[in-house]
Amino acid sequence: MSAPGYFLGLPLAGLTLPESPLAGSWLYELLAPGRSGALPWLIGLAGSLGIGLVARRKRALTRSGAAAAGLVGTLLFALGSLVWFAVLVAFFASSTAFTLWKKHLRSEAEGSYEKSGTRDAGQVFANGLAGAGLCVLNAIRPDPLWLAAYLGVMASVTADTWATELGGLSRARPRSIRTGRPVPAGTSGGVTWLGTLAGAAGAVFIGGAAVVCLWLVPEPHQPAALAGLARLAAFAALGGIAGSAADSLLGATLQRRYRCPVCGRTVERREHCGQPTRPSGGWSRMNNDAVNVLSSLAGGALAVLLAAAFR
Ligand SMILES: [Zn+2]
Repeated sequence: MSAPGYFLGLPLAGLTLPESPLAGSWLYELLAPGRSGALPWLIGLAGSLGIGLVARRKRALTRSGAAAAGLVGTLLFALGSLVWFAVLVAFFASSTAFTLWKKHLRSEAEGSYEKSGTRDAGQVFANGLAGAGLCVLNAIRPDPLWLAAYLGVMASVTADTWATELGGLSRARPRSIRTGRPVPAGTSGGVTWLGTLAGAAGAVFIGGAAVVCLWLVPEPHQPAALAGLARLAAFAALGGIAGSAADSLLGATLQRRYRCPVCGRTVERREHCGQPTRPSGGWSRMNNDAVNVLSSLAGGALAVLLAAAFR
């Protein structure tokens, strides 16, 4: 074993997890990898639509966003297993909770984000489509590395959402990740210590959720030792932290920026203070959704590289 793998595993050396409390139950059969038939699709659809409708009622998703979430969730449930579906739910439920909480607190920063609070299909796909694609690939050609990539992707989007939502509550003025200079709250690429720590916590949260799921319902060829699972979680979390940093960097450099003709602020939106805004920098096609997709792919790539190097 290589040095980093050795040190990551050392405190857990020799420990194995107790048998899953679900082993042998009908629930286990329902959530296990490699099922077939129509039932997983029907249950996945019902579960995903149920979650989408609750989010729609809470105004966390638009109608198109709820439909997109239903599609992504159904795919992950039917073609994946507990870990694939539950990690999506962990991302979605935690992010929605923070968004609603922040809405409740009425942050001043809210006004300058491209979209405020209610997520549409573009945002749902930006956060979920890469993960769903990895799940499809794993169903076609099973390999544990697909799951490592998926966890890195989901840790990235979770880290980014937690950092955005909780960082918006920071009393400290955000600083540009590119120049280090203070920028108005809500500026793309602006970072705070609170947001950065929240992002890291989100990435670790996804890694931890994955370990619990993999204990309850293991994937094929998964490490039996706790140390192996902890490494997978650590690689996912590192991918997530890197992906979130990539998101801030892209947000500060290539993301499309607009200037509000009324208040003069640089914003992500095409409209501010009730007036259309004017392009003021960045690439025309690089909107917030594109930045999310690219940075989550970077997080997934790092997680899969680490998992491949230390497997
Ligand atoms: Zn304005």
